[in-house]
Amino acid sequence: MSEFELIDIIRTHCAIARDDVRLGIGDDAAILTVPANHQLVVSTDTLVSGVHFPETTQAADIGWKSLAVNLSDLAAMGATPAWATLALTLPVPDRRWVEAFSDGFASLAREFKLALVGGDTTQGPLSITVTVHGFVPNDAALLRSGARVGDFVFVTGTLGDAAGGLRLMAEDGQRDDSMKELVQRLNRPTPRVAQGLVLRGRARSCIDVSDGLLADLGHICAASGVGCEVDVDALPTSSALNAGFGREERRSLQLGGGDDYELCFTASEEIAAELLGDLARSGCGATRVGRVVERSGVRVIDAAGDAVVVSSRGWEHFA
Ligand code: ADP
Ligand code: MG
Repeated sequence: MSEFELIDIIRTHCAIARDDVRLGIGDDAAILTVPANHQLVVSTDTLVSGVHFPETTQAADIGWKSLAVNLSDLAAMGATPAWATLALTLPVPDRRWVEAFSDGFASLAREFKLALVGGDTTQGPLSITVTVHGFVPNDAALLRSGARVGDFVFVTGTLGDAAGGLRLMAEDGQRDDSMKELVQRLNRPTPRVAQGLVLRGRARSCIDVSDGLLADLGHICAASGVGCEVDVDALPTSSALNAGFGREERRSLQLGGGDDYELCFTASEEIAAELLGDLARSGCGATRVGRVVERSGVRVIDAAGDAVVVSSRGWEHFA
């Protein structure tokens, strides 16, 4: 298997035609046309085997996830995806692995009519770097920095599932259907692109939840110069996560676990109801989980308004 044969497998598996691709894979660089009155939004993420996914992860899942985590960043900016490049480092030139990887990548790319327009292929420890490109109308992108005191804080979908799936994989026990659902959330995250478009021009700030809700909401707070209160009893929970974990462990997965790729955003109280209706109609609803306050930092409270703190045993009431 030569480098060029591998590139050809990737190219044929991921062939998606777009009018704005003047020149795709095959020359020294791609030539792409950005639509008038729009800005280009660009993001890169690397996945390293054993760090960003377990070494046992299937090639097709790695292909999907390497694109999904990047599309999630475009979603958080309110951008429409258009193109991607792929830098692939492989320990051995394995045709079947590359075919399966390309199938996983292409099945997600097709959902967004995203064209793979170039990349690089090298030998070394398994690592995948994807760069995605999308558009927003001039100055319409969602940022981390727009949250205001009094805003409500929301998240799409459910939290903690991917971290729950990872924990179950580590335990390596018998898998029932709800466990499989959690592992699926880890391996095949759904980037909330449609929801990012609904939020554009309406949310005041937005981020995707890749490192865990508290960490990522902390980024919104720092960028916006505000603080947040999160109601731990309001966190959206899948029935699979509820079935697999007790309350304390579940809370810690939902507050601290990464890899969910949901959107966390803030919006004014006045537009909240209408926004939630539009999000639900877009295919993934959102839940109010807190509010923006003046005092800096992210604090966790329960439904009674009491502070909840982390301890070695998980999240519990402040004594
Ligand atoms: P160069 O030596 O000019 O960098 P390469 O031989 O690396 O060219 O790549 C040849 C063509 O194949 C280029 O258009 C490049 O963008 C594309 N390409 C290489 N690797 C990949 C990949 N993993 N995915 C998509 N396109 C790739
Ligand atoms: Mg090259």
